[in-house]
Formats: sequence, structure tokens, C-alpha cells
Amino acid sequence: MMADQNSAETIIMAALSALTPPQLSDLTHSVSSLFHLCYRRLYSILSIPTLFNLTLHHLQSLPLQHKSLLIARHLLSNLTALTRFMQNSSTGNSFPVPANFASSMKLRDLDAVVLLLLLCEIRQLYPEVLETPSSRWRSILCDYISRDMLKPSGIEVSSAQVLIKYVEMVTKCKRFVSVMASNDSVSVGGKGGIEAATAVAVVVALPSVEVSGNSLECVICKENMKQGRDVCKLPCDHLFHWMCILPWLKEKNTCPCCRYRLPTDDVFGEIERLWEVMASMGGGGKL
Ligand SMILES: [Zn+2]
Ligand SMILES: [Zn+2]
Repeated sequence: MMADQNSAETIIMAALSALTPPQLSDLTHSVSSLFHLCYRRLYSILSIPTLFNLTLHHLQSLPLQHKSLLIARHLLSNLTALTRFMQNSSTGNSFPVPANFASSMKLRDLDAVVLLLLLCEIRQLYPEVLETPSSRWRSILCDYISRDMLKPSGIEVSSAQVLIKYVEMVTKCKRFVSVMASNDSVSVGGKGGIEAATAVAVVVALPSVEVSGNSLECVICKENMKQGRDVCKLPCDHLFHWMCILPWLKEKNTCPCCRYRLPTDDVFGEIERLWEVMASMGGGGKL
């Protein structure tokens, strides 16, 4: 259903080129601190045999669907880093991102996902390696990684290299998640996809504003919102009676007027939503 790898890459590159230089350096900064965290965890996993065995065991015990969820959450925290610029500039409002997506993965899950991504990479490059007994994997992976890390560019990389790695990583995760989603019963949003409830954290943070000037019609109940009354304002600036919009957002994550999509607690739906935000950043201009 989704774009292939090349066009995924094109979409990210276009979105990156739409950022202002300060936004780009802000993004580079947050991405490189995320990369450093991942490198540090990977280094620990590979240098402490017990931690390696625990992580591998944890990974092997997870069903495929759960593995794809781990990668999806990793992808989501990376997409969030990029698309928050767009959400802020499109409405002028700073828009809350559900807290559980703000790269706050549990350490055990983060360990599992960095090892999983490394294993995926190895499988692509040297498929025969994973045919060997898993007791030998740690030393093989150490060799592989140390070659990469000993390069001058291993850890201290330039901003351009950080962004290249970022594009590679997002593309890789996106492809993985798309493949998983199409092989699997995992629900994905997207065109004509599921409607999910708006994330509770987002609903709670919606602003209340007083109706001023001409009274407007609430499109849900078709009655006027009287002057001076407190009503709910969505990030797209559309107004509704609180009593009308709350039940709506319990079932849907779109504005009843313009279909603006609000964040949900569904990881795969969020990826689809942020992907659309990113595609529009790069010149789709559909938002
Ligand atoms: Zn109403
Ligand atoms: Zn709207």
C-alpha cells in the first residue's frame, strides 16, 4: 500500500529541505542525541555478555507482531522529531504530542529494538551469519560494529552525516513496518483506514476559547455557539461546543469540519498520520 523505498527517501529529503536552517540544526541535535543513546545501548549490549543474552532472549520470545510494534515505536519517535516543526508552524499553536511517544521507550524495549535493527542489517548484508549458533552472534556482531565504530566517522559524525543516517534509518524502519503491516493483521490507518480515538493526552490539552464576534454554528449539533460562551478550539482553529466535540473525539481523530487529523494512541495510525504531515511538508501542501 505504501510508497516504495525510493519514494520514501524522496519524501523525507523533501521534508528536510523545507526546514529553515535553525530548525535543521535543532533536528540534527535531537537526532544525534537519540543516535548516541542507541550507540551507547548497543555498546553495552555487545560488551556485556549477560545483557546480550537477556536482550536476545527477550527478542526471540516476542511474537513477530510485537517486534514490528517495537520498530514502529522507534520510527514514530523519529518522525515526531521531524514533524513537530510542521505542526507548530501550520497553526501557530504548539501542539502536544502524546507523552508515551516522546522517545520514552523503556530501556529493555530500546535495547531490543537496537539489537533487532542490527540483526536486520546483518541479515541483509551477510545472511549466512545468522545460520551460525546464536552463541557466536555476539562476537560476530562485535567485529562488525567495531569496524564501523573505529572509523573516524563512527561516533563523532558531522551534521550532514547525522541527517544521512537519519534518512537511512527512517526509510529502513518505514519499509520494515509497511512489510509487517501488510503481512500481518496489524491495523494500519491511512486512506479509508480505521478511525481511532484521539489521544487522551491531546484531548485534555485542547484549549477553551470564548466565542467573540458573530456567533458561529457548531457543525455537530447545528446550533449557534453564543457570544461569550466557552467552546473548544481544535488545532485547525475550528470551534465546537465542548459537549458536542468530546463524544466525537472519543471515537474519531478528525475535525468534523476539515478532517484535520489529531494524534491518536495507535502507533501505526500515528505513523500514517505523521507520514502524511511529512509528505505535505515537502511540498504536497495538502494540510
Ligand atoms: Zn454543538
Ligand atoms: Zn477543522
